[in-house]
Amino acid sequence: MRLVLVGPPGAGKGTQAQFIASNLSIPKISTGDIFRANVSGGTELGKLAKEYMDRGDLVPDEVTIAMVRDRLSESDAQDGFLLDGFPRNVPQAEILKKMLAEFGVALDIVLELVVDDDEVVRRLAGRRTCSQCGRIWHVDFDDKKDDVCDACGGRLYQRDDDKEQTVRHRLEVYQEQTAPLVSFYADEGILVGVDATGPVEEVTQRAMEALGPFTD
Ligand code: ADP
Ligand code: ADP
Repeated sequence: MRLVLVGPPGAGKGTQAQFIASNLSIPKISTGDIFRANVSGGTELGKLAKEYMDRGDLVPDEVTIAMVRDRLSESDAQDGFLLDGFPRNVPQAEILKKMLAEFGVALDIVLELVVDDDEVVRRLAGRRTCSQCGRIWHVDFDDKKDDVCDACGGRLYQRDDDKEQTVRHRLEVYQEQTAPLVSFYADEGILVGVDATGPVEEVTQRAMEALGPFTD
């Protein structure tokens, strides 16, 4: 299955991507995670991406697209993948379509995680990420008081771009640049909306039901 998750920052894409990708035995490809790994590794790509990420702006398309092309060419992505955080605007979506056509394949489905703005702000304000395994937690919803990852024992941190000012800007960027993807993929006939409110497991269940007709 070739699948894209779309939704505003904080909708729960990364959280759901972990479970959906594992349920379907396909690799989860999160452009935000790849950029963050490059920033902490001090690579050229990381140095370039950092200033955009710190502001809450999108990293330029040519950089992002080249990175995704490389990742999708790897052997584990040949039979399917879950993209989280890419595409992020219509030009990226158009190039992805062309890229997949070159590989002789196409997207099966785009899942839109639907949540309202208040919930998104609540989720982002309490988001914590494991510095070791990358797992995503929430201070209130997961009752994380100790900054220790229950999955691997690693230290949890708050992302720099989850500060209030940057969050506001990222939500504007989403409305201006990413939200148009919803009608783009609706026109392609592959968009399915999923109510992303309520407990994580319920959202996963709804997502898996939506994907049901596309699984073997
Ligand atoms: P969130 O989980 O809050 O939606 P991400 O982890 O997906 O955020 O992305 C963090 C940052 O990484 C973005 O604000 C942007 O700077 C950069 N980024 C991630 N994916 C893309 C992309 N497809 N195009 C451009 N920039 C991206
Ligand atoms: P995105 O990748 O879309 O930016 P995340 O998956 O990182 O979103 O989730 C943002 C925050 O919200 C995280 O702290 C996560 O633990 C929390 N979260 C995700 N899904 C839910 C949910 N269904 N209920 C409560 N909190 C959630």
